[in-house]
Amino acid sequence: ATGGEEHAFSAEVGRLLDLVVHALYSEREIFLRELVANAADATDRRRFEALTDAAQALPEGAKVRIEPDKDARRLTISDDGAGMSKDELARNLGTIARSGTRAFGEELAKHKPDERSGLIGQFGVGFYAAFMVAEHVDVVSRRAGSDEAWRWSSDGKGSFTLSPATREQPGTDIILYMKEDADEFLDAWRLEAIVRKWADHIAWPITIRSDGEDKAANAGTALWRKPRSEVTEEQLTEFYRHVSHNFDTPWATLHWHAEGTIDFTALLFIPGSRPFEFGEQVRESRVRLHVRRMFITDDAALLPPWLRFVQGVVDTEDLPLNVSREMLQATPVLQRIRKAVTNRVLNELRTRAKDVESYAGFWDNFGPVVKEGIWDDAEYRTDLAGLARFRSSTEEGWTTLADYVARMKDGQEAIYYLTGDNPDTLPASAQLEGFKARGIEVLLLTDPVDSFWPDRLGTFESKPLRSVSQSHADLEKFEAPLSEGEKAELDTLLPALKDALGDAVSEVRGSTRLVSSAVVLAAAGQGPDLQLQRLLRRSGQ
Ligand code: ADP
Ligand code: MG
Repeated sequence: ATGGEEHAFSAEVGRLLDLVVHALYSEREIFLRELVANAADATDRRRFEALTDAAQALPEGAKVRIEPDKDARRLTISDDGAGMSKDELARNLGTIARSGTRAFGEELAKHKPDERSGLIGQFGVGFYAAFMVAEHVDVVSRRAGSDEAWRWSSDGKGSFTLSPATREQPGTDIILYMKEDADEFLDAWRLEAIVRKWADHIAWPITIRSDGEDKAANAGTALWRKPRSEVTEEQLTEFYRHVSHNFDTPWATLHWHAEGTIDFTALLFIPGSRPFEFGEQVRESRVRLHVRRMFITDDAALLPPWLRFVQGVVDTEDLPLNVSREMLQATPVLQRIRKAVTNRVLNELRTRAKDVESYAGFWDNFGPVVKEGIWDDAEYRTDLAGLARFRSSTEEGWTTLADYVARMKDGQEAIYYLTGDNPDTLPASAQLEGFKARGIEVLLLTDPVDSFWPDRLGTFESKPLRSVSQSHADLEKFEAPLSEGEKAELDTLLPALKDALGDAVSEVRGSTRLVSSAVVLAAAGQGPDLQLQRLLRRSGQ
């Protein structure tokens, strides 16, 4: 594979290849998992695109073929998938789109060697794992719907070439010219063991050529359709890692079959840790929609955005196999599935909340996401407020709104909260002094979304939520009046302060909110909360 146009890898890819090849060496076999997953993804993609473009139709018996050739020291992984055009070859296999190499390197350094292989999938850099076992890789690909084929060719050392090629049918061949020390991956039995371990659940048939024959290597059963008793914990975890691109163990696994007005099976997972760069991902749920076991799309928003950390599969009998994107948007079936699935996840959270310590771990990871729902989902707002956990000026650990209400002082009408950026310094804020002195509890809110949801929620158990910075009047109900001497002193001090500060403040007032600080900035009675003002200022509003 010489000749053709030479292209340099983006600088990032060059460094990344180095990282992948060296950091993951002890788990080299995962190169096959990544290449088979890509082949299956490409086949899924073609199937879905064919619904609206007949030119892409999948051939009968589409599958993924693995062919070792010991004499030529060559391993080929072929699929009947969507294929890649010349541009797509250069873009998908020559640049890194989603995340930077630096972030990947930093994550690698943080993880033990046996945890690292999961990072590859999480960062969308799986293809490059091929260079752990191959000294040279050729990719021959023909885009479905086109007659042209192209060959991408590289030794993974800085550049790749693109040259015209031929391929009888659309699809892709990944051809690995194996390194001297990678002989084991040319043995059919070894390849079969790897497929069973990593790719058993892939829905397309995977075959391995041995003695001139293609032998089925995967069970290909839809794990979620099996009775729970026939599924092992390891299979569930492996499946979770496959669909989520995470590499931890799920905190919760929900597996159920709904029958009646609507028929579906769901296998859903709540991750045990917060995935890297979670906040920067798309805000839509990526739970996969299948119809009668066939993958349709991960773009159907099967759960609301505030449950987007939930991973897994929903498989229904109530949609036609040839459902198109347009139909997905219009059908009431999805609406009903969405509601049922959302309620089921909320029930699970309610149950799991009884285990205080375990739930605290969940809340640490995903609480800020759930709170988005209090802000922007009127239907579930009250439910979510009940599931939320908070730091408080008087309690250790997490507390709930219900517990706060139960602890309210005689005569206290509102639930008080203070927002700020820093969980370490907020408990010492001067804003709290008057409340502390009177033994009034204040919730301490430090997530960005906390500046928004309390206003939307309005009340909890008919108690209004009120920001500390707008509550001086309330506080005065709980206090002794000033002495005559103190009043006289203030009468001269306040006008002098107002004079000195001028337009920087709208008013200078005496207050008994403070105990050990001399002055505090307060929001004017009706204006936006202080923390919200800071946010608005930062975003230039
Ligand atoms: P990811 O699969 O997470 O996107 P990879 O590094 O594994 O990252 O693959 C990069 C991209 O290359 C894929 O997103 C896909 O567009 C393309 N690709 C890889 N293998 C194939 C294949 N067999 N058929 C078609 N496209 C492929
Ligand atoms: Mg991949």
